[in-house]
Amino acid sequence: MTAPLSGSTQPMLASRSPQCPDDLVAEAAAVSPATVEVLARQARSAQASWWHQGAAARSAVLRAVADRLRATTDELVDLVVREVGKPVIEARGELARSAAILDYYAQSCFAAVGEMFPPSLPATQPGLLFTERRPYGVAGLITPWNFPLAIPLWKAAPALAAGNAVLLKPSPDALACGQAIARLFAGLVPDGLLAVVPGGAETGRAIVEASDVLSFTGSVTVGRQVVATAARRGRPVQAEMGGQNAAIVLPDADLAETAAMLAGATMGYAGQKCTATRRIIVVGDSEPFTEALVAAVVALTVGDPADPAVTVGPVITAAARARVRDAVASARAAGARVLTGERTLPEGYYVAPVLVDRLDPAHALAQEETFGPLAAILSAPDVTTAVALANNVPYGLVTSVHGRDVGALLQAARGADTGLVRVNAPTTGVDFYAPFGGEKASSIGPREQGLAALDFYASTRTITLAA
Ligand code: NAD
Repeated sequence: MTAPLSGSTQPMLASRSPQCPDDLVAEAAAVSPATVEVLARQARSAQASWWHQGAAARSAVLRAVADRLRATTDELVDLVVREVGKPVIEARGELARSAAILDYYAQSCFAAVGEMFPPSLPATQPGLLFTERRPYGVAGLITPWNFPLAIPLWKAAPALAAGNAVLLKPSPDALACGQAIARLFAGLVPDGLLAVVPGGAETGRAIVEASDVLSFTGSVTVGRQVVATAARRGRPVQAEMGGQNAAIVLPDADLAETAAMLAGATMGYAGQKCTATRRIIVVGDSEPFTEALVAAVVALTVGDPADPAVTVGPVITAAARARVRDAVASARAAGARVLTGERTLPEGYYVAPVLVDRLDPAHALAQEETFGPLAAILSAPDVTTAVALANNVPYGLVTSVHGRDVGALLQAARGADTGLVRVNAPTTGVDFYAPFGGEKASSIGPREQGLAALDFYASTRTITLAA
C-alpha cells in the first residue's frame, strides 16, 4: 500500500460510513501523477521476475491470498459493512465470492497458453505453428466502491495469473477496503508488483496514462474518458459501466415468488448494483403483480446494514441520496404514481425503497441509471412490445424474464439487447467463471471474468518455426 505522502500537497481523501457519516473509516492522500509514474516503473521491473517465476509459483501466491482472505473473513465483512453500508448477508457473499475468484484464477495459471496449428510447409519439411499468450506488463485497474473487494480482485487475479503487475486504484469511497487488499498481498508478491494507489480523477487519469492494459468499472461518463485515453495510447481496454436493467414478467409467472425475487433485485443493497432491476415490465394486466410487488417491497427491512435481518441499508453518500430524491420528485411531477416510500428512517444516508408506476417510459427514471432503491413498473400488451420496451434504453447490461411458457421465455430472452439474460433468476446474480459484460452504453471492450479475462490481460503471439 502506498503510504500517504508526508508534506504532500495532494488532496486528502476520506471515506465515511454511510450509516454513520461521523465515523471516519479511512484517510489517505491522493497519489500524485508523478508518483503514479514511479509506481508504474517499479511495477514494470517487478513484473519481469513475477512472469519468469512460472505458473506454479503464481498459482501458489493466489492460493495463499485466498487462504489469507478466508482467515480474515469476519474482519473484512465488518469493514465492508462499515465502509460502504453493504448489508452483512451480502458482504458475506462478497467475501465468499472473492475467495472463490482467487481459487479459480490460481487454478487458471495452469490453463493452456496457446494453440498448435498445422504448419503450411510440405510434410517433408518439419515446422511448428503455434500461439503463445504473453502478459502486457502493467495492468491499470480502476474500480468503483460498490463491490469494494470482489471487483478489484476479479480484475487483479486474472491480471496477475496472466503474468502482469498491477496498479489498482480503488474508489475514494472504499479506501479502507483498498488498503485491505494491499494487506492481503503483502509479502506474498515481489515488492512493487501490486500497488494500491488511492486517489480520485487525477490519479485515475495518471494510471490510464501509465499502464499497458486497462480495466475500468464505474460510470459511463468516466468509462468513456478512460476508453478514449487508452485508445489514443493504443492500449487494450475494457470498461464495465452502468445499466438500466429490465425484468419482464409474463402472465404465467408465479406471482408471490417473482415479486419476492424482484423486490430483492430492485432494492437489495439499496439498489446499488450495476445489475439491479430498474424497470419491471409486466405483460398483460399489471395490477395483480403490482400489488404483490408493493407488498414484497414494503416487507423489506431497511436499516443498519450490520443487522442480519436488513436487506436495504443506506446509499453511499448524501449526494447519492439527493439524486434518488430528485429522481422521485421529477417522476412524481411528470405524473407517475409513487407506490411506496413512506418509512421512518434511521440517521445516515437512508432512503426508503420507491416503486413508481404510470411513468412515461421516456422519463429519465426509466432511461438513466439512478444508483439507488427505486424502480418503475411499466406494462406491455404482449411479449414483443415488452421486449421492445426493455431494449429502448441506452444501456444493455442485463435482462431477466419470468414465467413458465418456454416459447415466450425464449422469445424474450433471445430478443433482449443485453450482454446477460437471466430466466427465472434475478438480474443481480453474477457467475464469476462465465464471461460477464453488456452491450451498448454498458460495456466497451472484451468480456470480464472466466477465462475471457485471461485472454484480455495477455496478448497472443503467433509463432512460425520452419526447421
Ligand atoms: P465512478 O465512475 O464515479 O468511479 C469509478 C472509478 O473511477 C473510481 O475509482 C473513481 O475514482 C475513478 N475515476 C473518476 N474519475 C476518473 C477519471 N477521470 N479518470 C480515471 N478514473 C476516474 O463510479 P462509482 O460511483 O464508483 O461506481 C458506480 C458506477 O459503477 C455505477 O454506474 C455502476 O453501474 C457501475 N458499476 C458497474 C459494474 C459493472 O460490472 N458493469 C459493476 C459495479 C459498478
